[in-house]
Amino acid sequence: MRNNDCGSGILKFENFKFLLDNNPAIRQVELSNWGEVFLNKDLSRILEYAHTARVKVTISNGANLNHASEKALEALVRTQVEEVVVALDGATDETYQKYRVRGRIDRVLNNIDTINAFKRKYDSQKPRLVWQYILFGHNEHEIGAARLLSKNLDMTFAPKLNALPDYSPVVNVEEVMAETGLQAGRVQPDWGTAICNQLWRSPQINWDGKILGCCHNTWQDFGGNAFADTLDECLNSVRLVYARKMVAGKVPQREDIPCTRCEFYACMSRTDRWVNFRRVSTLSYVEKRFPHLHLAFKQARRRYTAARVLLLRTLLSYAQKMKAYVRTT
Ligand code: SF4
Repeated sequence: MRNNDCGSGILKFENFKFLLDNNPAIRQVELSNWGEVFLNKDLSRILEYAHTARVKVTISNGANLNHASEKALEALVRTQVEEVVVALDGATDETYQKYRVRGRIDRVLNNIDTINAFKRKYDSQKPRLVWQYILFGHNEHEIGAARLLSKNLDMTFAPKLNALPDYSPVVNVEEVMAETGLQAGRVQPDWGTAICNQLWRSPQINWDGKILGCCHNTWQDFGGNAFADTLDECLNSVRLVYARKMVAGKVPQREDIPCTRCEFYACMSRTDRWVNFRRVSTLSYVEKRFPHLHLAFKQARRRYTAARVLLLRTLLSYAQKMKAYVRTT
């Protein structure tokens, strides 16, 4: 993992084993965040151990998949990783490299081919492969080509809004909206609160065990260490409990809480739009009691988005045909 004040490093197998051994209630682990999970030489052992402990693994926050050993790619399939989200914001090398600097799309596609070959070898549906396509002005002309490629590679195409509104914004907003079903050209209004939900639902742990709370925080931890203390202690520390109340707008900001330095918190504060404390607490409780629901919900949401996009595209093509018909008559 690469980050700022929290340092950079790699999750060690022994620490991962400690976490699972000491917290038998863990049923699912998301392995990716900042940095690239496939650079971890312990990845195969980590996946094997999780599989033996019957803990589901996802790599849904994203991997660039430029460098991956065959052993690790095989382990994804053999250990039945649930999902791998591949960050691929282009269909050609030229476009892809604008955001993924020094990345090579041919390497990524080769690695996807290898995963698919192992899926065939083991007759496995897992991992589900997702093509994540962040929408930019410099890649909007390749959405169709990327969608087609994703289909050929047996991947789910998942366009995503850009979190940085000033970086290469979408130009043909209406066309991109019709193509993707997303409100291109504007930042998702509840982006911050969606991330803050992780304080309850999927608290992030740094590679060295520090508690970061959410995937956005790279500058200050909440105290405690998941590789030394119990997870219960870490996730109910005074500062983390306070942060949950803070992002719900129930208590004032405090200097020792990382959220105070966060632009999303500043935005919530400015707009008076806070995390819905009751809703997220209930969701978190349901997910803990029925862990399989979390994945089922994510899948349902993806299907819903895909259906919405299909509907929009059909309507658009119908409207274009009507326009052409009116012009000719
Ligand atoms: S306010 Fe920022 S740092 Fe705090 S939980 Fe939300 S996104 Fe993370």
